[in-house]
Amino acid sequence: MKAIVFHRPGDIRFEEVDTPTPGPGEVLVRIGSALTCGTDLKTYRRGHPVMIKKTPALFGHEWAGTVEGVGEGVVHVRVGDRVVAANSAPCHRCFPCQIGRVNLCEDLELLNGAYAEYIRVPARIVEQNLLTIPDHLTFAQAALVEPLACALYGIERSGVQLGQTLCIFGAGPMGLLLTQLAKGQGGRVLVVGKGEFRLRKAAEAGADEILDAARTENVVAEVRRLSPEGRGADVTIEATGRPEVWEQAVEVTRKAGTVVLFGGCEPGTSFQVDTRRMHYEELTLLGVFHHTPRHIREALTLLAQGVVDANLLLTHRMALGALPEAFDLLGRGEAIKVVLKP
Ligand SMILES: [Zn+2]
Ligand SMILES: [Zn+2]
Repeated sequence: MKAIVFHRPGDIRFEEVDTPTPGPGEVLVRIGSALTCGTDLKTYRRGHPVMIKKTPALFGHEWAGTVEGVGEGVVHVRVGDRVVAANSAPCHRCFPCQIGRVNLCEDLELLNGAYAEYIRVPARIVEQNLLTIPDHLTFAQAALVEPLACALYGIERSGVQLGQTLCIFGAGPMGLLLTQLAKGQGGRVLVVGKGEFRLRKAAEAGADEILDAARTENVVAEVRRLSPEGRGADVTIEATGRPEVWEQAVEVTRKAGTVVLFGGCEPGTSFQVDTRRMHYEELTLLGVFHHTPRHIREALTLLAQGVVDANLLLTHRMALGALPEAFDLLGRGEAIKVVLKP
């Protein structure tokens, strides 16, 4: 089969590789659509210590398709079923799993290889995180399950309530999903982002106020001005993955407010928090990472019900071999998600 193979940062090749065969408990899926993701762009540029442990490696983790073959013992899907899967499944045995934080599993089984004609889904993911998709959802729409599950978990942890002002930093795919979910929770959403294309998308996603970070001299003062009585945002979600923006996210948040640190930064970086504000203003800072099988299921339900507008994010379509071009578009902020067809 044809697949994109990651050799090293900046070096991905569209190559002929062996078509996998499903072993016991495994499922082989013919990819219908794969989606680009910010994490893949980061991996393309600088590698990824968790997602890609050795090279050359198959690449990409957001996909949906049709079951082409099933291994021994697989009972809940059949050849011909339309399916989507998460890019991981937890072990349920390690310490984080046992205290109910399965997204932090120390033995998370990961799946890469969406940018290919076929993908082999490992048994643990088949068991926990392979779902059949309703007929009315396209493959590309269903493939949003994974990023949406992350966003759903982020909104849940944020505890945002009806009528609260939520400030979201970042107008990429995550910022747009978070915006749609927060609007659904009855929040007033203020998006801080960059780039005309993305900010237009934020408006389409329902943002009440939009701040262009590149054209605003003092973002912190401006967010405070737009918040109730100038106090600052009730809840802030950082979805850019840059330490200096993490600091801004803390600064725009009101007394006793909550900051969700959602965007992963480069390894080895750190950020500073004012101890006075942290203590005397009782800020809550929450790190939020990944998703759980429950959120994967809930995300598919939200897509099926149309609560989240998938098409708003699927801005471009290309052939699989054009992935480098897709990354260029994403890097320039001129696409949200590119749908790749094998
Ligand atoms: Zn992703
Ligand atoms: Zn575990």
